[in-house]
Amino acid sequence: MTRIIAVTNQKGGVGKTTTCVNLAASLAANRRRVLLVDMDPQGNATVGAGADKETLEATNYELLMGLADAADVRLALPEAGFDLLPANGDLTAAEVALLEAEGRERRLADALAPVAGDYDYAIIDCPPALNILTVNALVAADRVLIPIQCEYYALEGLTALLNTIRRVQQSANPALQIEGLLRTMFDPRNNLANQVGAQLLAHFDEQVYRTQIPRNVRLAEAPSHGRPALQYDRSSRGAIAYMALASELLRRERRSVAEA
Ligand code: ATP
Ligand code: MG
Repeated sequence: MTRIIAVTNQKGGVGKTTTCVNLAASLAANRRRVLLVDMDPQGNATVGAGADKETLEATNYELLMGLADAADVRLALPEAGFDLLPANGDLTAAEVALLEAEGRERRLADALAPVAGDYDYAIIDCPPALNILTVNALVAADRVLIPIQCEYYALEGLTALLNTIRRVQQSANPALQIEGLLRTMFDPRNNLANQVGAQLLAHFDEQVYRTQIPRNVRLAEAPSHGRPALQYDRSSRGAIAYMALASELLRRERRSVAEA
């Protein structure tokens, strides 16, 4: 069965893209078949995974507008270990065109359906906004992963995000569930980070991953080499943390299958 995970937080720069690329690579290293879906016009996941966003023949713009099929848009990235549905600035035009379009919230869900069976996991990177692109990701997904940078304003936008998730659950996608909250760029020597981390655990308990992603310069360097950290420096703390996250996610999955 394919598990589709939207990685989202409308706050900018919290580690969504870093999580998408490195979780995709880590699941692939666990012999899972993975599709990374870039739904951000910034195209950071596309570049981080090793594709050249300026020379793409087709992107998720064509996919969402019904001008191309996922099977034609996807790129195989053997070095990264997964496939990619890429994006670049063209996606901004889709955002505008979709505002008035029929079935505008289901475009990605419908486009993914024919290829979903080729994968164990699809990981969707979202833009830093609660816009139609993010809503498409939430409608297509069965799980939401929320990266959170543990700083003072971290919890502020969370209510709006949880409301959006609830609205999608009540309308287009009742099966949507929260996969987990992930503490990113975590510095255990920082008191505030520890306080916010503890607050998250108090509110969300089991939904917070036990794995924390540390601040690690290799994670920040890897995208400029077009490689996940696992390929750029597999012994770095960042690469190891994302492998631990993949293990935790797979372990939780086995547990929920056993309980079902
Ligand atoms: P946006 O909202 O713009 O899409 P984002 O939520 O996708 O941002 P990233 O692009 O993943 O966030 O991360 C923001 C910046 O922080 C990037 O420069 C990235 O390389 C860096 N970064 C992310 N995670 C870490 C980490 N654990 N350690 C060090 N640097 C990190
Ligand atoms: Mg991003």
